[in-house]
Amino acid sequence: MEREVRVRFAPSPTGALHIGGVRTALYNYLFAKKNGGKFLIRIEDTDQTRFVPGAEEYIKESLAWAGIETDEDPWKGGPHGPYRQSERKAMYMQYALDLVEKGHAYYAFDTSEELDAMRERLTAARVVSPQYNSITRTTMKNSLTLPEDEVKARLASGEPYVIRIKIPRKEEVRLNDMIRGWVMVHSSTLDDKVLMKSDGMPTYHLANIVDDHLMGITHVIRGEEWLPSAPLHVLLYKYFGWEDTMPQFAHLPLLLKPDGNGKLSKRDAEKHGFPVFPLEWTDPNTGGQVAGFRESGYLPDAFVNFLALLGWNPGNQEEIFSKEQLIEAFTVERIGKSGTKFDINKANWFNEIYLRAKPNVELAEYLLASLKQEGIACTPEKAAKVCGVMKERATFPTDFWKEGKFFFLSPTSFDEKIAEKKWNNDTVNALTAYKEELLANTETITPELAKALLTTALEKKGIGMGKVMQGVRLAITGVGAGPDLMEVIEIIGKEEVIKRIDFAIDNLKAYIH
Ligand code: GLU
Repeated sequence: MEREVRVRFAPSPTGALHIGGVRTALYNYLFAKKNGGKFLIRIEDTDQTRFVPGAEEYIKESLAWAGIETDEDPWKGGPHGPYRQSERKAMYMQYALDLVEKGHAYYAFDTSEELDAMRERLTAARVVSPQYNSITRTTMKNSLTLPEDEVKARLASGEPYVIRIKIPRKEEVRLNDMIRGWVMVHSSTLDDKVLMKSDGMPTYHLANIVDDHLMGITHVIRGEEWLPSAPLHVLLYKYFGWEDTMPQFAHLPLLLKPDGNGKLSKRDAEKHGFPVFPLEWTDPNTGGQVAGFRESGYLPDAFVNFLALLGWNPGNQEEIFSKEQLIEAFTVERIGKSGTKFDINKANWFNEIYLRAKPNVELAEYLLASLKQEGIACTPEKAAKVCGVMKERATFPTDFWKEGKFFFLSPTSFDEKIAEKKWNNDTVNALTAYKEELLANTETITPELAKALLTTALEKKGIGMGKVMQGVRLAITGVGAGPDLMEVIEIIGKEEVIKRIDFAIDNLKAYIH
């Protein structure tokens, strides 16, 4: 019988969730939905020294914001709970002991001083990576070297110990990664990793394998940084006797710096001024702050579309995908093997596309919120109109206010460079004539009428439109570029336009040479 596809995202709550983590969650989610399966979240919090308060909440909120929905998680529960490893603590020891019994793991009593001494000894002997392994374990204090009675006595006396996996000396470990194909590693390169720590907590490796097994996980889709651990995981499945249901692995390529050299980091974000975290975050321990995509004005659906294409491609030129379309199109086979360069301009491009696709009334909400903050009253109708005119030029929702202030405030100053270049007698004559046409006309102003009146004014004066157009814009908006000026005139209204023309003529005299 085909097993139901079950995948998981298994973050550790050690700080803000990096955008690479959100991508891992997204790919798991898309894979589950594509295959009619389940997507769950498991919080891997066995390393209490790295626990950061608020980090779990951050993970939850980030995924909720991105619309990555779960079927089972620590907050809503599910049939395979608990979904927080700290709450599963009592389960792990029996599995470690099972391995000890089968001869695949052993107790080790070495103190940290003894471990340091071993490493120093090996370093002095020019061993490149000194580790506790199939060779060195024979010289250490563990249940493979100590007499059985002594081991029993040490355990009975409550002496601290760890349980380590007993890696075979000569064995080729193979795994067939869904992205990378066959990966072969010789066991002599692996070390005897700790499975159970002296504080009674399992390590990541043990807890991860036990939980994936108990939770019926069929596919492990995770970051490439876990590929070196995968051979150890394969051995654990074998030693537990769970080979038949071992999940298939897919290790995702790294997200790279914008210049392609190395892994995208928090420092890149600071250096280039763009976010690499989904939400803003203040580390409670260090006070360090990171910027968030959400707070920077990225729309969740644009963010998800952008993220999906950072490492996956649909096999054609198509770039715009709704979540449903992503689910439909997603396959692991189309995830690239090599790292993907992070490009914030692409994220901005997606944001523009999604912003423009939204109805004006919805966009108006953003503008109305900005206006409220500024204490400026505005009807929803006017706000929608402004957004309609502005949306081709906006990247973020806040741009409607930032770039469109002139719709609400008459200019009090003018772009000097434009004034220097474009303010002259022709412009003043044209504007004076335009004002007269506007005053003489009694119809409601429309963009067409605004244009017709300007044309008439310029014809009467014998001035070419191209010569004075930027000066006219400067007088009305204070700046040299913007959306269609005739539409601007319609929105701000005839009376206000006339006022602005008067003000500009009075205040820009110094620019006429
Ligand atoms: N807890 C690990 C992490 O923080 C999970 C790795 C895995 O998915 O196996 O990335």
